[in-house]
Amino acid sequence: MEVLALECTGINQLELKKFEKPEPKNDSALLKIKLSGICGTDIHGIEGKRSVKFPFIPGHEIVAFVDSFGKDADKFIKIINGPEIKIGDRVTINPRIVCGRCYYCTNFPMNQEMCINSITATSIGSSNYPYLFGGWAEYIYLLPGSEIIKLPENLPDKNATLIEPYTCAVGCIDRYSHIHNRIAGDAFEINDTVVIYGVGAIGMLMVAGFYLAGAKNIIAIDTIKEKLVLAKEFGANHTINVSDTNANERIKIIKELTENLGAGVVIESCGIPEMINEGISLLKRRGILFEIGHLLDAGQSRINPYVLCRNEIQILGHYAYPSSQSMLFAAKLLERGELPYEKLLKFFRLDQYKEVIFDKKTENAIKPAFLIY
Ligand SMILES: [Zn+2]
Ligand SMILES: [Zn+2]
Repeated sequence: MEVLALECTGINQLELKKFEKPEPKNDSALLKIKLSGICGTDIHGIEGKRSVKFPFIPGHEIVAFVDSFGKDADKFIKIINGPEIKIGDRVTINPRIVCGRCYYCTNFPMNQEMCINSITATSIGSSNYPYLFGGWAEYIYLLPGSEIIKLPENLPDKNATLIEPYTCAVGCIDRYSHIHNRIAGDAFEINDTVVIYGVGAIGMLMVAGFYLAGAKNIIAIDTIKEKLVLAKEFGANHTINVSDTNANERIKIIKELTENLGAGVVIESCGIPEMINEGISLLKRRGILFEIGHLLDAGQSRINPYVLCRNEIQILGHYAYPSSQSMLFAAKLLERGELPYEKLLKFFRLDQYKEVIFDKKTENAIKPAFLIY
């Protein structure tokens, strides 16, 4: 049997190719993929903006079913939210396999994103058997050390495509809650104003997550009107369009909305270096700026150290998510279905890749994804 996969063979080169269907080894498993999200980091890999091993199969935000596995797979593949691996189980994957031995794995095992030897589809590549390590394919091969998350029963397949980006958002909110907890008590009553720069997939899910966590006031900032309208449906109380305002006007609007105090939290999720300085200028004293938007090196940002010092500002970098358990948490949050998540999604067939990836014809979808079957 042959497996169809979208392989990236070089910078800006994608090819729909057929691979032989692999038989999982004793310690491995094979999943049949139904849906697979298109993430900004996939595009960065295709464009050669981050280190990848060509050729590789992009895609890591999958909804899949267990197809087959080797006789010892249970010992080598960890299943979260289920007692054992079973054929037909509906799952997603943690796309990172950690080494378990480096300084970070030893000292911070619940922060898997810090492992310095972690393996992903883009680091293995697809030149050697069993080839299929990425999500834009009909099947994905799971090596020993992989972790899969069994999906909660009432979570619709399509909405499950949002688990991975949602995990990035809720991980950050959780971190904020812990810090906040020490200062102000109840983590679920965030009596603060949260400002979110950039409402793409991660920023929009930040709006959703902070809304569900009880944030008092959420202000979404973007350049695209339609995204800002959607942000209101996900819990934003106010929106500001960057195209109609300058930095001073935005700072003024936010000060006015916060009785001149400023925001408690700023999420920088648009990846524009200048926004960091703008963000810290509108924080209240002891406010926190989370930097999550710079997955690529976009150069330096000028900041005013006096503002940091006088206002005791905290700037925290936040990258991806810490664990498969946090993915389960995001899955459960999605299962509750309290927000119109389906409005974020648009699905395309694998053979539409040219228009979707290169011509960017994604119909302004917050999360475009491939519907494999
Ligand atoms: Zn992603
Ligand atoms: Zn490690």
